[in-house]
Amino acid sequence: MSEFEMVVGLEVHVELKTRSKIFCSCPTRFGGDPNAHICEVCAGLPGALPRLNKKVLDYAIMTSLSLHCEVTKESRFDRKNYFYPDLPKGYQISQLYAPIGRNGYMDIDISDPAGSSAVKRIRIHELHMEDDAGKLIHDETGNRTMIDFSRCGVPLLEIVTEPDFRSPEEVVSFLTELRTMLKFIGVSDCKMQEGSLRADVNLSVRAAGDPVLGTRTEMKNLSSFRAVSKAIGYESARQWEIVRNGGTIDRETRRWDEEKEASFAMRKKEDAAEYKYFPEPDLPVLRITGEKIDELRCVLPELPQDRRKRYIEELHLPEYDAGILTANKEITVLFERTAEICGDPKEASNWIMVDLMKLLNDTGTLPEDLKIRGSSLGEIIVLVKDGKVSRASGKELLKAAFMEDAIPSEYADQHDLWLISDEKLLEEIVEKVLENNEKARNEYLAGKTKNFQFLLGQAMRETKGKADPGLLRKILEEKM
Ligand SMILES: [Zn+2]
Repeated sequence: MSEFEMVVGLEVHVELKTRSKIFCSCPTRFGGDPNAHICEVCAGLPGALPRLNKKVLDYAIMTSLSLHCEVTKESRFDRKNYFYPDLPKGYQISQLYAPIGRNGYMDIDISDPAGSSAVKRIRIHELHMEDDAGKLIHDETGNRTMIDFSRCGVPLLEIVTEPDFRSPEEVVSFLTELRTMLKFIGVSDCKMQEGSLRADVNLSVRAAGDPVLGTRTEMKNLSSFRAVSKAIGYESARQWEIVRNGGTIDRETRRWDEEKEASFAMRKKEDAAEYKYFPEPDLPVLRITGEKIDELRCVLPELPQDRRKRYIEELHLPEYDAGILTANKEITVLFERTAEICGDPKEASNWIMVDLMKLLNDTGTLPEDLKIRGSSLGEIIVLVKDGKVSRASGKELLKAAFMEDAIPSEYADQHDLWLISDEKLLEEIVEKVLENNEKARNEYLAGKTKNFQFLLGQAMRETKGKADPGLLRKILEEKM
């Protein structure tokens, strides 16, 4: 048993996938020339008034519901005041006193790889809406810093957990599950490398079994799950080293340096009071009705965790299959359509888990970029099951559909992949083979049973391997 315990909570910032910004109609597109997408509202010019993008509120409520949060009936915005060059207004519009969602949870899988399956509930403290700041661009040659305000006003959700994590693995499991869920409900792309999912880690340590919480630090600038995991390992070891030697931890914000694989003190951690929060006077109170909540609950798709359960209980898929098929929205959609077309969920799962996953790995393709449609894969499975094409040709069709969205039946026509299932034609071929192999036939009739395989092989060769094997065997049996 470890001598110390880490206590970790997360603040996850999620960029919402709306077309326009949270308080103005500027586009939210990633990239483009610096400062191409700004107006007087998001650039913070005096006198400009914000108006809430309705879609942002819808997405915030949908996310609250998916995280089992209570939706606040009278939610409000507040100003968080601080000075920083990337913040032209001099304050961020956020929610402190009445955030949109509170008291939720998400269950994460903490099964150990050896086999025992276990679930842990991570409590969600709150979820609130806010606007993003601009981006500082440091010019290495000229020793200057420039500001791109295009990101100002991009809508964010901040999801704050309770300090329920006890290991980096639990944190990564939560972030993975959260990302899958947010993509499923369609509110965010969750691309960590583009900054649309950012996690800050609050961490403290204490002697194992000690009920009192230690002083925590906050770590920022974590741009991948790997960085999150490494940073937690590093920071917990750093803190424990200090505590064990009788030192004290400073309450501070630290920056993770990916290259040096170490965290560095950035600034003393601010208290909420230092931000001089006050209610945002330019935006009205949000009165959210029960009808509104019900309406949004209705448009929510089935969540990944519920689907996983249904695949196991109703489709009788193994837990392992169900986990993989629901880990990604594109794969889930492909699976469900495939299973619908071919009418055989287990077969659909096999083709995806084995053949399609291999293609994804071999070509380094992300599931997001999948071209193949469920209707195509479903058709391929039916063709193989019905003996219209061989299993090997089925794989060839899958590859063609995967690479270039080929239509299976057309591709089979063009590449002559159809198996011969014309009984008349196969009968003629079998008769010819029997005539040419009198001796083998007579030996078979005299009891040398293994000659059957030989004759079957000859007939198959005659069709260049294109006969429906079941049908050919049946005809040969009859003719003998
Ligand atoms: Zn704007």
